[in-house]
Amino acid sequence: MTEDQSMIGQRHCPFCAKKAGIRIIYGSPPIAVYLLHLKGEVILGECRRNKSSPDWHCKACGRRWNERTGAIVHPSNG
Ligand SMILES: [Zn+2]
Repeated sequence: MTEDQSMIGQRHCPFCAKKAGIRIIYGSPPIAVYLLHLKGEVILGECRRNKSSPDWHCKACGRRWNERTGAIVHPSNG
């Protein structure tokens, strides 16, 4: 399994319980990741990432969360 494939896959959202959570990828993505972004299977985050940056984005409810710290990031426009 390649590193790119490990980024694919949807998680159950802890908020709406739908399996619509997708990875947020930080930094300059390799082309394979960029293609996933075009398909809506990952999200490209800001270039910078800090400890509390969210790792996952829910396509159903728009919430984001950080798996490691449990930090919840609500949509800024919501
Ligand atoms: Zn959700």
